[in-house]
Amino acid sequence: MTIQWFPGHMAKARREVSEKMKFVDIVFELVDARLPRSSRNPMLDQIVQQKPRLILLNKADLADPNQTARWMDWFKEQGYEALSLNAKNDKSVKQIVPAAKKVLADKLARDKERGIKPRAIRAMVLGIPNVGKSTLLNHLAGKKIASTGNKPGVTKGQQWLRFGSQLELLDTPGILWPKFEDPEVGKRLALTGAIKDDLLHLDDLAIDELGFLRRFYPEQLKERYKLTDEEMFQELPELLMLIAHKRGFKDDYERASEMLIIELRQGRLGRYTLDRFEEYTE
Ligand code: GDP
Repeated sequence: MTIQWFPGHMAKARREVSEKMKFVDIVFELVDARLPRSSRNPMLDQIVQQKPRLILLNKADLADPNQTARWMDWFKEQGYEALSLNAKNDKSVKQIVPAAKKVLADKLARDKERGIKPRAIRAMVLGIPNVGKSTLLNHLAGKKIASTGNKPGVTKGQQWLRFGSQLELLDTPGILWPKFEDPEVGKRLALTGAIKDDLLHLDDLAIDELGFLRRFYPEQLKERYKLTDEEMFQELPELLMLIAHKRGFKDDYERASEMLIIELRQGRLGRYTLDRFEEYTE
């Protein structure tokens, strides 16, 4: 997906999301489990305000499970309910309703006391491009889902996707752009494929990737490219050259860089988390 950053574009998306906020009981904030900080929109708090929120760390199947566990605890410490998710997996997606009920427990109990008949929870999915919003909606839609259309009490024009009897989702997710003026955040978003990488130099990105893998996941790097201990400790540009040669790319660094980035995105280098928990909290 091509992402261009225009202030006007962002303002429009933000307005649309704000307008829809009043129709829902809860917001599902989708973040990339490999980037629990960099894939969040910094204006989200302002837009969502007091609306109950469930944070879904999606693509958890690609992320480092130790890091995900620590980030989940951290979100909980901040007062949010958080769930690690694989939007492509049935069992995983089924955990959403119980988690949403937990977030809304007080409201549901109040409604019950007042004799209000329980109805489906209305939610909106919100997140940056490529985080898995449509995958989640399509996945739900694939399972006995019906577009419920307009209902009494629901403003005309809102289309709802029904998931069982307990959950209704606005059929268009809210898209908010990440803030990638920070070069480090930009690189991380590019490495996971969240933003278009032609904004950056591929070889710079690949060198960064190698440095990151060597530091945090050396075994995965060694294993994938059959590197010896000695080779692992070369300067990063030399390491890139070596991998290019091993793959038969001769001196084509551009091609080797592209391959490295694609393999990282596809999870061929194993599971990883780019936003290190320690980096933000220590
Ligand atoms: P959107 O732009 O937020 O709607 O993102 P998409 O739903 O189009 O997803 C972007 C890419 O991520 C697609 O290739 C999906 O197949 C993939 N994807 C989404 N969720 C997951 C997940 O939980 N795990 C994995 N491995 N891939 C996912």
